[in-house]
Amino acid sequence: MNFQTHSVLDAHIHYDNPALMPDLIEILDHSQIGKFNIVCTPHTNRLSLVPDALHLKAHYPERVYVFGGLDISGLFTAPAACGVYFAGYLDKLVQMGCDGVKMIEGKPDMRRMLSIPAFDSPAYAPYWAKMEEMSLPLIFHVNDPEEFWDPVLIPDWAKRQGWFYGDGSYVSNEVQYSEVLNLLHRHPGLKVIFAHFFFLSNQLPRLSDYLDEFPNMHIDLTPGIEMYYAFARNPDVARDFFLKYQDRILFGTDIGAKGLLAGGGIDPVDSQIRVDLVRSFLEKEGEFRVVSGQGFLMEKFAGPFQGINLPASVLEKIYHTNFERLAGEHPSPLNPDAIIQECQRLAAVIPAMGAARPGEQADPSVAEMVSHYFREQKGA
Ligand SMILES: [Zn+2]
Repeated sequence: MNFQTHSVLDAHIHYDNPALMPDLIEILDHSQIGKFNIVCTPHTNRLSLVPDALHLKAHYPERVYVFGGLDISGLFTAPAACGVYFAGYLDKLVQMGCDGVKMIEGKPDMRRMLSIPAFDSPAYAPYWAKMEEMSLPLIFHVNDPEEFWDPVLIPDWAKRQGWFYGDGSYVSNEVQYSEVLNLLHRHPGLKVIFAHFFFLSNQLPRLSDYLDEFPNMHIDLTPGIEMYYAFARNPDVARDFFLKYQDRILFGTDIGAKGLLAGGGIDPVDSQIRVDLVRSFLEKEGEFRVVSGQGFLMEKFAGPFQGINLPASVLEKIYHTNFERLAGEHPSPLNPDAIIQECQRLAAVIPAMGAARPGEQADPSVAEMVSHYFREQKGA
């Protein structure tokens, strides 16, 4: 599809293997995405994907931002004191050259797998206080589409991913909303970006109330295909919302999420559909469709969708200036010594932690490779 020329920064990309670097760069160049942000999630047999992201940033220091993930081993070693550990880990992330923090811990399957304490519990309190004090931006995945709790409404593709949460063993979405709102009341300075429109694309008046109440709260546009269906039901209302909250909305695609969940690297077709979907929605007037049946987690969703044709000045904000205001106009520089130290620590901790899933082997190889890479850089 043809779009207007804009400088586009993708705030939400996943990257789980340094071997994917050329593929990722090629896809982003092809999609006319300049700067981008890698959001690091925990990993079942490698603990952390922060080393991969920092290695990528070393190759493209002006182009790559990194929102580091917390070291979830802190949840196992001392769950009741995890907030103290995570608060300390923020210093480490920043020293290494991370630009912010990513938490996927509010995705219900993740929360159950890691036995995560309530976000507003005393266990987490020191961490939130430190986040607010450091003024670090956070991309926070809280909940999932509401139909994932409903045995009738949940889509098949979501069920196949193991994302049916209605059997009573998962946290409910309303419990998590109230935990997170409690946090924002306690820490109104927290610079938070809720991923996937906070899963409230279907309840815009409610989302408006939260955005009005918490001036440091933001949302990203990363699909959730259901968001674009919700917007299409009433494009005029959606457009008014985007105009009103033009300073609080960030562009993102989830490119790389497929590789993370299903293996097989970065899929050019899936990636292009994501970019086309979000940009068409923002820029086109009237009905549009995307290539049907091929996007990962988007099957059966071909549209029609409705574009909201935003003015160029608003697109500029959503495409990059809102992110830059939160995370800086340029990615922060890397500190090789801090990275080497943390990668060496990870390489030692990973085998001790083992793999989270039966049949998997703990894998310290990337942490070792990245530590070796930065040692060589220093020597050069
Ligand atoms: Zn994601």
